[in-house]
Amino acid sequence: MDGKIEQMALAAGFTHVADLRAQDIVLMKDVRDMCAKNSCGMYGKNWSCPPACGTIEECRERVMAFQTGILVQTVGELEDEFDVETMMETEAAHKEHFLQLHDALQPLYPGLLSLGAGTCTRCSVCSYPDLPCRFPEKRFSSMEAYGMLVTQVCQISGMKYYYGSGTISYTSCFLLE
Ligand code: SF4
Repeated sequence: MDGKIEQMALAAGFTHVADLRAQDIVLMKDVRDMCAKNSCGMYGKNWSCPPACGTIEECRERVMAFQTGILVQTVGELEDEFDVETMMETEAAHKEHFLQLHDALQPLYPGLLSLGAGTCTRCSVCSYPDLPCRFPEKRFSSMEAYGMLVTQVCQISGMKYYYGSGTISYTSCFLLE
C-alpha cells in the first residue's frame, strides 16, 4: 500500500487499514435484497440507497471499473456487552473518519468510489425524491447497498471482521484507481 494513503487513513482516525483488490469483491444479490426488507428504515428514502443508487448490475459495473482501493475500520472497546453508548460513539466516530478521508482523497482521486457503513448522512435530511442530490460528488452509499458482504471483503483484504467479545467494529472502503 502507498504509505501516504495509509497515513491519511490513520490520520483520519481509522484504527485499521488494508489494501483492497476490487476485482476480488463478490457483489451478492442476497445482500442487496436485504435492503428491500428495510430493517434500517432507509430503503427508498435516500439517493444513496436502493432503489435510487442503481441496480446491482449498475453497482457491479461501477465497482469492476476499479483495480485498487483500501478497506478501513474503526474498532471500539466496550466496557461490557451492553455498552450501547460506546457502540454509538464508535459508529459516529467511524462516520466522521469516513467523511474526513473521503474529502482528503477526492482531490487525489477525483473518480473515487467511497462506500460506507450506512446511508449517506451528508445532509440532515436527504432531498430524495423531490429534488436532485445536493452533493453528488460527496454522496456515498453503503457497502451493503452495493451488494457487498463485509465479511467477504474483509477476508480478501486479510483484515479481521471480528476482534472478539468486548469489541465493536465498523468497516468501509474506498475504491481509488
Ligand atoms: S448528499 Fe445529501 S441529498 Fe445527496 S444523497 Fe447524501 S444526504 Fe441525500
